[in-house]
Amino acid sequence: MSKELHSPTSSFAMEIASIPGGEDIRKCIQCGICSATCSVASVVDKYRPRKLIQKILIGERNEVLKDDLPWLCMMCRTCEDRCQEGASPVDIFHVVRQLAVKEGYIPDAFKQATKTVLLDGWMLEDAYSDFIEEDRENLNLDTNLEWNEEFTRRLMSKYFKGVI
Ligand code: SF4
Ligand code: SF4
Repeated sequence: MSKELHSPTSSFAMEIASIPGGEDIRKCIQCGICSATCSVASVVDKYRPRKLIQKILIGERNEVLKDDLPWLCMMCRTCEDRCQEGASPVDIFHVVRQLAVKEGYIPDAFKQATKTVLLDGWMLEDAYSDFIEEDRENLNLDTNLEWNEEFTRRLMSKYFKGVI
């Protein structure tokens, strides 16, 4: 049976609800199950998915978009599995991140990680080790995984100009 949706009154919540993925803000009843089951919340005191959703519901737009908190969600979707209202905090935070990026708020750690992936092809610099090369050779796979610099250059200029 589909759950009844509510209509948040803050303009920020309505903005989130109007973007695909953000509709679930209308399902949240602030029960807190997501916070109780979130593995990030279990180790980071300031991170509570319910509280972050509450800030959206009451319209704290600037505070939410400029905060690192929406970026701490590791998108494991445990909260989504547990939410009795069928809401997906992950999808809501994904929309928050989209808006934050559009307005130029990206935590430095994410900028650095994106840059590293684009330039090196791996999350960790020089992660493609001799060990992997040997493994590939043993499996008769091509060991030459040179990064496509032309592709990276085009990708960076099309999507990341002025962002990272
Ligand atoms: S578990 Fe669902 S309804 Fe409860 S606070 Fe989290 S998102 Fe909202
Ligand atoms: S998806 Fe994000 S908010 Fe949900 S349980 Fe995982 S880390 Fe927590």
